Parts: sequence; structure tokens; C-alpha cells
Amino acid sequence: MVEDARPHPFRQRRRGYRPLAKITPVQHDLNADLHSHSTASDGTLDAATLATRAKANGVELWALTDHDELAALPAARAAAERAGLPFVDGVEISVTFAGTTVHIVGLGIDPANDELVAGIAEVRAGREERARQMGDGLAQVGIKGAYEGAMKFAPNPHLVSRTHFGRFLVAGGIAPDMHTVFRRYLTEGKPGYVEHRWARLGDAVRWIRAAGGVAVIAHPGRYKFTPTEEYALFSEFQAHGGEGVEVVTGSHHAGDIAKYTDMALEFGLLASRGSDFHDPEESRLDLGLKPNPLALSLRLTPVWSRWSEADLRTPRAAS
Ligand code: AMP
Ligand code: MN
Ligand code: MN
Ligand code: MN
Repeated sequence: MVEDARPHPFRQRRRGYRPLAKITPVQHDLNADLHSHSTASDGTLDAATLATRAKANGVELWALTDHDELAALPAARAAAERAGLPFVDGVEISVTFAGTTVHIVGLGIDPANDELVAGIAEVRAGREERARQMGDGLAQVGIKGAYEGAMKFAPNPHLVSRTHFGRFLVAGGIAPDMHTVFRRYLTEGKPGYVEHRWARLGDAVRWIRAAGGVAVIAHPGRYKFTPTEEYALFSEFQAHGGEGVEVVTGSHHAGDIAKYTDMALEFGLLASRGSDFHDPEESRLDLGLKPNPLALSLRLTPVWSRWSEADLRTPRAAS
């Protein structure tokens, strides 16, 4: 049998890590998918189904990152172990920064950490009242029963999101698809949109770090910031102890990938990669970033350089 000569991605254990803007022995073309959603938030597949799908799609390192929710992580880890799929626990925290909703992904977190558990419970708590107000807004333009309808689409009653309203409105023929329903009803200035105050940036980063995780700015190309506001986001994020940024994600096109590769290097941030998969029909990329599994630039330091082989070993994967 011929030995695989490629350097193992997780061989290096780093203590007192400082991001380096140079080539590292870490495997850049690892099919890491570090951003995905289950039925515990606004995905349509449960954790076990996701694990099987990720494995079948060639994922080599997987993270589940439900919005403001940790409930599916034990099931995801167990299913990943059964599939021989290295797994890291994750979360995607909703934050308000400069009046805009920003998502901060936490990777490699301890899902039992009290500070993280309490912090995101508080973030989740506002969702039900917000959903009622969204229902009221939609009722004013003649769409009845949207709150109850959205709840029927939300398998986790504590985690109702705009996505569940979107699915209800599409199912009712109010709009042809999710993109259109968001544009017409669920974004700023539209009848189903409700201003909401999410977590503070510094709190989200602090909870993630308290739980032993790496904080990562999710899909930065999606925010409508001015260059000054965006610079402030990156600077403040880093000042609070944030360490990474998503460079390759389902919502980034080639121009975004080039831009955030440069930003990661400028700020010395670790680079992450994930599909942001929610549903086979709705999502632009499937698990494993299918059909477009772009690798991170060799100039970047992948976020997975932070975890050792032992951190990521699963019983069957190790054999
Ligand atoms: P919420 O946390 O309730 O504000 O919901 C945010 C979620 O809505 C995001 O995580 C996406 O899954 C989804 N979303 C946001 N914008 C769009 C869009 N234009 N089309 C489809 N889904 C979207
Ligand atoms: Mn979502
Ligand atoms: Mn997001
Ligand atoms: Mn997401």
C-alpha cells in the first residue's frame, strides 16, 4: 500500500497561536464545510441526515452552525462519528452592529459552556415576540395567519426565523420563491420586517471564546456596509478577540472571495469555508460546497489549522 504523502491537515498543534500570512503545512484543499443548518434552526434536514449527506458529498471536516441554537450538536456529533466524518461543534450568533444584522460563527465551541448557553438563550428569547410582530405587519397588507403559518414550518418553536415565514408565504402562493419573498416581504422597509436588537458584537465573541471556540465573521459580502463601517466591523471584531472570517461561502461570488482573501491577510485573520447549506432546493451550494467546491487561497491560514488531529478524530475515522 502506498502511503499518502500529503501533509495531514491537523498535524500541527499550535499553542499561543498567531495567524501568519504565509503558506503553512495545513491542507488548503481540504473539503471543509464549516457552516450549515439543521431543523434546530432554519434548515430542513435533521442532524443525522445532514451528516450522511455531508459524507456522501465528500466533506472531510464538517461543522453544524445553527442560528442561536446548540440543541442539535450532540446528535450531529454522534451521526458524524457513525459516518467517520471529522466534526467540530458550531453556532451562528445573530448580532446587531452599526444598526445592521451581522452573523458571527463560533467554531470548535464546547456546547455545554454555561456562558455560551446563557448568552444565546437570551438572543433566542426575542424571536417569538418578533415573529408575532412580523405576523401583524403581514396582516396589515392582507396576509392573514402568517405567525401561526410560520410556526407550522418551524420544527423548533424556540427558533422561528424569517426563513419559516418565507416558506409559509411561498407554500401559500404569495410569492414564487424564497428570493422573491424576502425581497418583497421580509427585508428592511417591507411589511414583514421588524427591527430587532440582537446580541452585541463583543458579547457574541466573548461567549464563543469562553466556550473555547474561534469566532468568525460569517459571509461578510452580504452586509450592506460602507467601507468605513466594514473596516469598523473588522477592527472591533478583532479588538474583542475575533479571529476568523469566512472567505469561501455560498453567498460569495468571485469578487467577494478575492476581496475577503485580501481582508483576511490585511487583518491577519484565519480563513473559513462553508456552504451555509439550509435545504437541497433553496441553497445555492449543497454540503461540501457542491457543485463549486472552491479551495481557499494558499496565501491564507485556514481556520482548521487551529485544531489538532486528536481534536478532530472520530472513532471510526481513526481506524
Ligand atoms: P432571521 O435570523 O430570522 O432574521 O433569518 C435570517 C435567515 O433568513 C438567514 O439565515 C437566511 O437563512 C435567510 N435569508 C436571509 N435573506 C434571504 C434571502 N434573500 N433569500 C433566502 N433566504 C434568506
Ligand atoms: Mn439561515
Ligand atoms: Mn448567516
Ligand atoms: Mn448560516
